[in-house]
Amino acid sequence: MALVVHKYGGTSVANTERISAIADKVLLARRADDRVVVVVSAMSGETNRLMGLAHAISEQPSPRELDVLLSTGEQSTIALLCMALAERGVVARSYTGAQVRILTDTMHNKARIVDIDTTRLKADLASGKVVVVAGFQGVDEDGNITTLGRGGSDTTAVALAAALKADECRIYTDVDGVYTTDPRVVPAARRMDRLTYEEMLEMASLGAKVLQIRSVEFASKYNVPLRVLSSFEEGEGTLISGEDESMEQALISGVAFNRDEAQVTVQGVPDQPGIAFGILGPVADANIEVDMIIQNVGADGSTDFTFTVHRNDFDKAMGILRSTGNKLGARKVEGNAEIVKVSLVGVGMRSHAGIASKTFEVLAQESINIHMISTSEIKISVVIDEKYLELAVRALHKEFELEQATRVVC
Ligand code: ADP
Ligand code: ASP
Ligand code: MG
Repeated sequence: MALVVHKYGGTSVANTERISAIADKVLLARRADDRVVVVVSAMSGETNRLMGLAHAISEQPSPRELDVLLSTGEQSTIALLCMALAERGVVARSYTGAQVRILTDTMHNKARIVDIDTTRLKADLASGKVVVVAGFQGVDEDGNITTLGRGGSDTTAVALAAALKADECRIYTDVDGVYTTDPRVVPAARRMDRLTYEEMLEMASLGAKVLQIRSVEFASKYNVPLRVLSSFEEGEGTLISGEDESMEQALISGVAFNRDEAQVTVQGVPDQPGIAFGILGPVADANIEVDMIIQNVGADGSTDFTFTVHRNDFDKAMGILRSTGNKLGARKVEGNAEIVKVSLVGVGMRSHAGIASKTFEVLAQESINIHMISTSEIKISVVIDEKYLELAVRALHKEFELEQATRVVC
């Protein structure tokens, strides 16, 4: 008896017509797959609307109360979907994260799932019911409602699939699979039939928001076959799984980008031991995550230090640096919140030299200035001005021939 987890994102449940259409899909799946667990997001725009309400009342809403508020978005959808299923004669039961007991740590707004109690879900499935679970939320040990960070319903779905040992976790969304880059930016982007966890993890980490990073981590850790597909049209979508021998190892699997970046520079600090710690220590203490870091080669006993942070943390980081900069005798503290990170991702890059230089050549041809560079075995990232984002992504996508079905393989 197959067990399949379906997840429907915000646009897939945007209104009552869409919720009814999803109920039709679940009905079909129920006939074919025997046991179906459905995870849903809030209706599209709802999480942002709730966030707006909170910020209209308080500049810094209490993280605990924000979670109580945000979790209501998904709570509405599960109830509506169960009503639509009942209309079709399908016996379904809705559960909030807390009702299931999706146990998380206590980090409000970005909690991590630590355990899932599957008792009630298994009993419902065994008695032929469809189970509908609210995505994006859980509960901590003290009974406080938590949420899992934006895009967190993906993680709920994969974690449930892992806990229930589902045969497949299907992420239904508004695109029909994972593309070589965001198809909204490059219409010529190509859907991939298959991807490894490693490739998808890298794409997600570097900004491809089609899946929340943690959902891919979970899928990889527990070997959950994950499929991204459209809730609007039929199709096989993209299967993300472990590597198997028959899989082509693409040289480059895609171009990812992240608009949520900001860059900070501390100029003219003394070039001496402890300076990196002196600058980054207070930033870390303020719980600000730092991404790329560059320290220039010192000259005349002083050096410059640049790093990137999430754009939401930009003002906070600048405030901290102005004060540390003063203490450390920095000449100047500068920031730029209009930058983006563009990355070329590919497991096959490992064995190929010259990808980096070709990347730089493409950007040079477009007269795009690179502010920062970072590379690993399977990615090359550059920080550039936001205004060049589309141009850079399109040029790289074209130059590396990603729109072609027969990709360069190694
Ligand atoms: P949902 O609301 O269903 O969770 P999301 O908006 O979170 O949907 O994710 C789907 C969106 O991800 C697509 O509409 C697309 O614009 C974006 N996206 C970014 N990178 C990619 C990619 N490489 N492949 C497919 N979609 C991508
Ligand atoms: N509703 C949440 C969000 O908008 C979670 C999700 O959709 O995955 O981020
Ligand atoms: Mg999403």
